[in-house]
Amino acid sequence: MAKTLKGKVVLITGGSRGIGRACCLAFARAGAQVAFTYARSRKDAAETAEEVRRLGTTCIALQADVADPAHCKRAFAAVLAKYKRLDILVNNAGITADKPLFMMQDDEWHRVISTNLDGAYAMTRAAITTLLKQKAGCIIMMGSVSGITGLAGQTNYSASKAGMIGFAKALAREAAACNVRVNVVAPGFIETDMLRHMREEARKKCLDAVPLKRFGTAEEVAALCVFLAGDAARYITGEVIRIDGGLAT
Ligand code: NAP
Repeated sequence: MAKTLKGKVVLITGGSRGIGRACCLAFARAGAQVAFTYARSRKDAAETAEEVRRLGTTCIALQADVADPAHCKRAFAAVLAKYKRLDILVNNAGITADKPLFMMQDDEWHRVISTNLDGAYAMTRAAITTLLKQKAGCIIMMGSVSGITGLAGQTNYSASKAGMIGFAKALAREAAACNVRVNVVAPGFIETDMLRHMREEARKKCLDAVPLKRFGTAEEVAALCVFLAGDAARYITGEVIRIDGGLAT
């Protein structure tokens, strides 16, 4: 792979598993220096970091609950201490707690909003001044088609992902004068732990709804993130790009 991001520093939230892990590896292959956060999976995080280092670049793994702004500030400070700059932030950490609204508990609503939406806010808030001062930077939000079309059983998740889109579009306008770009990647059904927990019957229903008749891979989403972070995407900001096999067309 061409080293299109050589010398750049990327921070990826939720890099221990799934799409975030694939992003760590794809950014490393593109030549970037990597930092990532994880919530609980210390062993998975250590494996991701090891694999990134084997690709010939540096990597730091930071335990941080993105729902806690103090954790985000601490993680970002650790990135600055190590690399002295940040070029790319990927707000990827996310969770689901699916249930029809009439059964949803307040805690399930708040947990999803505070991880997905407040978490993206908190990490971006921690990093934004540095990016603006550098007069260059790229922020990628890991949205979802659920935040565009809405999905039954996901009022909390759809609201969090729709919120990320509004946040990204507003920030794209705010930060453009300082050459900081902000975009949203909106995956459909991607084969990760998030999908593996689904019952067989529900999986089949999801698959039937995808025009390309397969689930996406974390690597495909990561490749889109690398593209968005690179110079080839320098005129793209405030955009929402679906990667969903045609699901939301
Ligand atoms: P995943 O395999 O479940 O991985 C989630 C990652 O987020 C893990 O690294 C996890 O860390 C981290 N995380 C969770 N809660 C966190 C918290 N409070 N603080 C910090 N990190 C936290 O999920 P995935 O499928 O890769 O999803 C990644 C992103 O893509 C999410 O934002 C998700 O909404 C979005 N997405 C996924 C799909 C899909 O079909 N998979 C579709 C659309 C959008 P630990 O390992 O420590 O738990």
